[in-house]
Amino acid sequence: MKNDVAATAHAGAARRMAADAAGVAEAARILRGGGLVAFPTETVYGLGADATSEAAVARVYRAKGRPAFNPLIAHVATLAAAQEQGIFSSEAALLAKSFWPGPLTLVVPLAAQATVCALARAGQDTIALRIPSHPAALALIAAAGRPLAAPSANRSGRVSPVAAAHVAQDIGGEIDLILDGGPCSLGLESTIIGCLEGPPRLLRPGGIPRAAIEAALGFSLAGPWQESCSPEDIRSPGALASHYAPRARLRLEATTLDAGEAGLDFGGRFPAGANVRDLSPSRDLSEAAANLFAFLRELDALGASCIAVAPIPGEGLGEAINDRLKRAAAPRA
Ligand code: AMP
Ligand code: MG
Repeated sequence: MKNDVAATAHAGAARRMAADAAGVAEAARILRGGGLVAFPTETVYGLGADATSEAAVARVYRAKGRPAFNPLIAHVATLAAAQEQGIFSSEAALLAKSFWPGPLTLVVPLAAQATVCALARAGQDTIALRIPSHPAALALIAAAGRPLAAPSANRSGRVSPVAAAHVAQDIGGEIDLILDGGPCSLGLESTIIGCLEGPPRLLRPGGIPRAAIEAALGFSLAGPWQESCSPEDIRSPGALASHYAPRARLRLEATTLDAGEAGLDFGGRFPAGANVRDLSPSRDLSEAAANLFAFLRELDALGASCIAVAPIPGEGLGEAINDRLKRAAAPRA
């Protein structure tokens, strides 16, 4: 298969344990010692490190090949722990109470007593915080006893990992342990909301649909502004144009499959075949989200130079699915 060198350059035999009590205890020990542990969340697999340690966080950036201007989300287990790190406006508190634990990240002003290190925040005076709902993730954060920086456990810019095997393929050689909790239930990253000055803004669509957040707030959200890339949005590089990219080129809104193409289908539009994966034959967007990254990897592994992607509705989780596909299709830097 072509391009295998890049695919395996960072692969290696990481230690792997089940995400049970023994695995969580060992993972917490490693994290407290400054090591790197990949762990399951409901969104995607995270590459965890002690968010209060510059040295540990520096290893995360290195392992991922992530540019240091791209800040990390600090994962905490309780609202009290989040409020130690960030300043919550009444709207931020409302969103936290409505959607935590779960796939929502809040970007808020940094609290004076915050312990998350500057490198994890890319030097900004804001902080991104999330309480995940995956039981193993919550147990791990509690056992580590500190916030965990945990970007997706893959090479920066590539397809996010939704299974332990994906982590091993991408960055297994760079990390100390992989906690295997099976496939991620949601399969899409968190929705990121900025609660800074002015009304809350949607910085990245994700696992909580826009409409649910708007219903909780009682008004419409502005953003995201990926195309214009205003200075404020540059601070949120989850919004960078090219990201989540497979090796193959993507052809979006494809209504037919051309010769030689692999197909990422939705709702049975393409003829079935070994080169086609249907995200959801029954047009269920939750099923499509859960399949998205794994199917992109599978199709990429077939070696086709182009993946045709069927149209996917934009409502609900479709906004985040289309966002990821658009950026996977964007010209590479
Ligand atoms: P991920 O790549 O899924 O780990 O998500 C990290 C993303 O969260 C970044 O790329 C930013 O978009 C956003 N983020 C994290 N920290 C901040 C921050 N302090 N200010 C603004 N956005 C942030
Ligand atoms: Mg990522």
